[in-house]
Amino acid sequence: MSSDGAAPYRRLLLKVSGEGFARKGEAALDLDRVKELASQLHHLTSEGVQIACVIGGGNILRGAQSSELGINRTTADYMGMLATVVNGLALSDALEGEGVQTRVMSAIDVDKVCEPFIRRRAIRHLEKGRVVILVGGLGIPYFTTDSTAAQRAVELECDALLKATMVDGVYDKDPNKEEDAVLLPDLTFDEVIARRLRVMDQTAFTLCRENNLPLIVFHLAAENGVVKAARGESIGTFVHN
Ligand code: UDP
Repeated sequence: MSSDGAAPYRRLLLKVSGEGFARKGEAALDLDRVKELASQLHHLTSEGVQIACVIGGGNILRGAQSSELGINRTTADYMGMLATVVNGLALSDALEGEGVQTRVMSAIDVDKVCEPFIRRRAIRHLEKGRVVILVGGLGIPYFTTDSTAAQRAVELECDALLKATMVDGVYDKDPNKEEDAVLLPDLTFDEVIARRLRVMDQTAFTLCRENNLPLIVFHLAAENGVVKAARGESIGTFVHN
């Protein structure tokens, strides 16, 4: 948080994993979770923060599962991209229900329900205080929504990338396997490389590093996590140059 108490970021890119929209073993969409996220975004837009969201699709389908499903990989990737459209529309609906204006912009053609992604138009929406929900990934197979988030954050000149995910942040070793794994609250991009830490996929990480885009990784179930991260409060792991 800056010394005058104002949010430190003017424009943010929030990446939410599809898993954030579901409860394990239950239906693909848990609307309570979607509404909880919408309420945090409402809070931030009312403080004047501009927000673009990239939504994952992992609660419905990930392309990498294609062999398990017996589906061609490219087809599965397009299915994954379409899954992000479903999640994005759910978030848009929840936000509009809170009185927050949104625009859903897609990288793949689904023009009955979304606008196409056009950079200048997206920036205009952000400037008008609309939450821009970016769906369809980058619109090409063999990529992830992490890469999408990093690419769009750079393209839309965001001040930071917030990655809301299934772990509390970056650990020195895998916390699911090693009991003594320690959360690392502050890291440089170079430290991540030198220590071979896993933050996000390599394409996404490289884009952030090369474009000096700070990254905050935190658990999507953390109470008020998005608001805290957007305000620069201590949460998860902050990765920077
Ligand atoms: N995907 C893709 N190209 C993209 C973005 C996503 O092919 O530019 C597909 C890919 O199959 C991916 C799926 O969409 O697995 C859902 O995205 P992701 O796995 O990143 O979702 P998350 O893990 O964040 O929920």
